[in-house]
Amino acid sequence: MSIINSILKTLNMEEKNIIFNENFVEKININKTNCLIYIGYLKNEYEYCPIYGCKNDNTIIKNGTKTSLIKIPKVSELTSYLELIKQRYKCKNCRKRFNASTNIVDYRCHISNNTKYSIIKYAKDIIPNTYIAKNHNVSNMTIQRIINKIYDDEKLYRNYLPENICIDEFTALKRKMDSHMMKNS
Ligand SMILES: [Zn+2]
Repeated sequence: MSIINSILKTLNMEEKNIIFNENFVEKININKTNCLIYIGYLKNEYEYCPIYGCKNDNTIIKNGTKTSLIKIPKVSELTSYLELIKQRYKCKNCRKRFNASTNIVDYRCHISNNTKYSIIKYAKDIIPNTYIAKNHNVSNMTIQRIINKIYDDEKLYRNYLPENICIDEFTALKRKMDSHMMKNS
């Protein structure tokens, strides 16, 4: 198994388009907290341009990079981030630019999908939102937003909900959380 696969396995992420270099993790201090930052480079290969479907005859070219800092679940109890350097591309046919994409994080979101999974799992156990928020390095409001989004959006619901939670269970959880929010507001 390659080092890259081992890193991805440790982070519980499946993404064949991420590359990690030799110094792929750094320990840094953010707001007096020791954090781990994993540094990955994301690239895609295109047969067709994803904007207008132009055929790639060496016409999709690299065009700089865009970096985002993504919250991921804690690693050995250390708050952790993935600094994802996304390759940018330009299609010479339609002149559109776009970023490499991945299923580990939603477009324009800075919280990884496996963090969302984890939040749902904690919420299912009726652990207080404040604890879930602290443990996942996100705000209380974010927790509620993730729960609502998964609940309201059937497509997201199918993608993110751990298999062992059925819809009835989740509906009950949502009701409980809503009434808890109302009591505390
Ligand atoms: Zn194009």
